[in-house]
Parts: sequence; C-alpha cells; structure tokens
Amino acid sequence: MALLVQKYGGSSVGTLEKIRNVANRVAKEQAKGTGLVVVVSAMQGETDRLLNLVQQITQRPSEREVDALVSTGEQVSAALLAITLESMGIKARSMSGSQMRIETDGHFSRARIKRVDQKAFQSALDAGEVVVATGFQGVDSQGNVTTLGRGGSDTSAVALAAALEADECEIYTDVLGVFTADPRICTTAKKLDEICFEEMMEMASQGSKVLQIRSVELAMNHNVPIRVRSTFSEDRGTLVHNEEDALERLVVRGISHNMNEVKFTMRGLPYGEGAPSKIFGALAEAQINVDVIVQNAPSENNIDLSFTLDQSDRYKAEDVLKVVLADAQGANTEIDENIGK
Ligand code: ASP
Ligand code: MG
Repeated sequence: MALLVQKYGGSSVGTLEKIRNVANRVAKEQAKGTGLVVVVSAMQGETDRLLNLVQQITQRPSEREVDALVSTGEQVSAALLAITLESMGIKARSMSGSQMRIETDGHFSRARIKRVDQKAFQSALDAGEVVVATGFQGVDSQGNVTTLGRGGSDTSAVALAAALEADECEIYTDVLGVFTADPRICTTAKKLDEICFEEMMEMASQGSKVLQIRSVELAMNHNVPIRVRSTFSEDRGTLVHNEEDALERLVVRGISHNMNEVKFTMRGLPYGEGAPSKIFGALAEAQINVDVIVQNAPSENNIDLSFTLDQSDRYKAEDVLKVVLADAQGANTEIDENIGK
C-alpha cells in the first residue's frame, strides 16, 4: 500500500473552513487507497498568541512550561481535523507527540528527534484510519513535552515519513512551492519545479521560510523526497530531492533574505587566547546556531568579533556570553538588532 505523509501548515488549518478544505484533500487521497499520516501545525497565529501570553508574564520563563503551553496549538488543530474527517465518514485518529512516542532530547524549544516508534502508528494504519499527527512536538526520556523549534512541524513530517518509509512527504502551505526569491519582494520570482536537498538547505539557512532547515537536513539524510505545494491549488509544487535525481543543473537556483537576525559585536577581545573558540563552543553547547561570523585583523593584541544569530536566541545567547566574557577581561558586548541581509 502506498503510504503518504502530508503536512499542513498553520495557514492551511487557520479556520474551520480551511480545515474542511484539508479534509477534502485528505478524503480524495484516501479514496485512492493510500495510507495517510497527516501532520498539522497549530492554527495560524496560535503559537504566536501563546508565546505572547508568556511574554506578558516574564521575559525568562521556564522553558519546560513554555513547551507544555505551545504544544497545545497542534493538539487543537489535530483534534479538529480528526473530528471533521469523522463527520465526513472517514475513520481518523488524532495523536499527540507522546501518544506517537516521538522521542526527543531534553532541549526545550529546540529539541531534536531521537526515535520514532513505528508501532504506535501501525494499529491505526492497519485499521484503515487516517492518522492525524500533531507536528512540532515530542517527548523526552523523562516524559516532558518538548517542541522542535519554530516551523518544527516540517521536521515532524519528515521524521514520520522516514520512520514509516513513506513514498513522499508533501508539505502543504499557502504558496505554490519554492521560488527563486521571495515573491512578495521580487515580483519576477519564479516557482521551481524541483530543487536538490543541498540547494534547499542553503536557501533555508539564508532565510527562506518555506521549510525548516532541520527538516531538509533530515530528509537528505534519509533520502525522503519532499513536495512543497499549495493547499489551495492543484499545482504539483516543488519537489525537493536528491541531486542525482534532479533533471536540470543551474548555477544559481535562487536568492533568499532574513530580517530576523541579531548581531552581536564584541570589541577588545584578547588575541591569541582562543576567545572565539570559547565563545562559539559555549554557544554550540547551548544549542544556539550562529549564522554569519566576521572577525577583524588584530590590532594591539586585540580583536573585534561580530556574529549574527536568530532573534529568538537573543536572551539565551546573552546569558552564555556573560559567562564566557567574564574570563576575557576588557571586552564589552554590543547588540544590534534587526539586520537584513
Ligand atoms: N506551530 C509551530 C510554529 O508556529 C510549528 C509549525 O508551525 O511548524 O512555529
Ligand atoms: Mg512553516
């Protein structure tokens, strides 16, 4: 039996009407006899709404509780879709991260999936039910709810597709596919019919929001073809797959940008004492991804070092840097925000 993983993003499940549209698409696929695992994101705006509630309480909340809170968004949309499917006479079962036994490490808000228990799905699939899976969440070895980082439902979908050896992982969104540049900014941008994993990783790391970068990494490692397509169109979208399978080779595939970076600048770091390696080592330890790094030539045995990272990691990075800089006497840190590149 063909097995398909479909993932619907927040804009595809933003209202009950849109959920019905998703249910119709699912019904059409199921009528072909395809086994289906449907991964959903929270309804559009819901994750932001929940995070905003936290911000109104404190800037530095318990990470465990934030994950417990934000994971509810996906549970709502999964249950609503399952209810809609059942109301149409289609057998469906919603499953949360812990019900699916998606085991992650214990890094709240940025957890990595370690294992997916295929058995958790098998009985539902064998019974001919559509599994409606919550994206974005898992459970750590202590039983705590964890989340996979913003946009993490893409990674959930790819992980499930890999574990279940699905034929393809379809990622449904509100754009037709992957474009050569952001169509909202560049009106002449074109939709690509295909792109290879490496190119997609490059675009995702440079700010293209179509797919979470980790999902592309995972898809590449497990050779899971991803099809990015619109929920509101019959267009086949963009196939993201292995380089060898790509039909055409282009020198430049696309351009992307990112307006959500914070730049940190450290002036007067001692030269030759391994300060950069201490700094980047400590950030890596805290699971913070650094993007662009610039270091000037040393003068008077001092160096200036700048780097950018995602705004959501700002406070965590500040905490880490405070500890590291306590050793590097004389250095002071500047923080610039909102740099587009
Ligand atoms: N709901 C989560 C977010 O807004 C996960 C996702 O949509 O993929 O980031
Ligand atoms: Mg997304």
